[in-house]
Amino acid sequence: MERFIQVSVISESKAWIQEGELRADEMPRLVDILLAGGSLPQFWINLERKKKEVICSGNLEGTLSIACDRCGQPLKLVVDEEFTFKMVPEANLDSQNGKEVFLEDEDLDMDFYRDDQIDWKGILEDQVILALPIRNLCEEQGQSACKIPLNPQEIENLKTDNPFSSLSNSGWENN
Ligand SMILES: [Zn+2]
Repeated sequence: MERFIQVSVISESKAWIQEGELRADEMPRLVDILLAGGSLPQFWINLERKKKEVICSGNLEGTLSIACDRCGQPLKLVVDEEFTFKMVPEANLDSQNGKEVFLEDEDLDMDFYRDDQIDWKGILEDQVILALPIRNLCEEQGQSACKIPLNPQEIENLKTDNPFSSLSNSGWENN
């Protein structure tokens, strides 16, 4: 299936629907983040067109494998994202004087497409990115805290070489 769908060919009487599995090579922005060992996200996506407006909705589900930010251990991340937003042509911003028009609309989030094309696989990839935690750490993903082995010498250095260690004696109050 093509990555782009031409908006003007979407029927106004029948939604355009795709479902399947988002392959790793269809998520180029996540190439350095996703590890082997997870499952690929299953998706469905639904585009309903009304003139130039497209309501985009769908769901994305899977268990990804991504590394802990601190210790690098692979962690399972369950993704179950539902989404609904509206897409309008980017040109509308200029021709209709932008925001004022859109503020009257219902509470749907808004996105833009250009050149009569919607990158629907890019939309799905966006949803995976939105599902990622800001920090991915062992203890925040239901694991015990990261185990980063420090050798005894490093621990000793932490005690003696700490440039702030003298502050604990002299205190900050001295002017
Ligand atoms: Zn960790």
